[in-house]
Amino acid sequence: MEEQLRIAGIIRESIVDGNGLRFVVFGQGCPHHCPGCHNPQTHDFAGGKFVSIESLLREIGQNPLLRGVTFSGGEPFVQPEGFAALARGIQKLPGHLDITVYSGYTYEQLLELPGAGELLDLCDYLIDGPFLREQRDISLKFRGSRNQRFIDLNQTRRAGRVVLAMEKTLPARKRYQTA
Ligand code: SF4
Repeated sequence: MEEQLRIAGIIRESIVDGNGLRFVVFGQGCPHHCPGCHNPQTHDFAGGKFVSIESLLREIGQNPLLRGVTFSGGEPFVQPEGFAALARGIQKLPGHLDITVYSGYTYEQLLELPGAGELLDLCDYLIDGPFLREQRDISLKFRGSRNQRFIDLNQTRRAGRVVLAMEKTLPARKRYQTA
């Protein structure tokens, strides 16, 4: 059977979900229920729609201007096998696209989360942790609250400790839109 992901939507070109111009896939389903979440429509595990990974890869491959792809949500790590399959496909595309993933889990929690390892290993950047309303800060790039970290996963793996990434673009994040 064709591999599929349950998604809330996509944005074909975004500059607010990681460095550079990015294709964004919003996974459907989130267990965290952070008070003040901007995307409550993405929480329902039975909501959204199914799309084939092949069709996402086709769309991503058609835009030579993309610098990378972002997995957002919802919680991408509730579908680790599907997003890992998408990540493997992205790595085979021309242009060396980087992969950024958002998660309501912290990096340390993801290291212990059953089934999360392959997806984590395939990603280049992680924005981690739940949205905490009391730590909300609209001046942050790519993040909604101060507890969240923008982690360079390649440097983190090499160093054996969490290494934060440089944040190179300015606009704050915006809400997802349905494809
Ligand atoms: S992890 Fe993200 S999508 Fe899930 S409830 Fe928290 S802010 Fe919303």
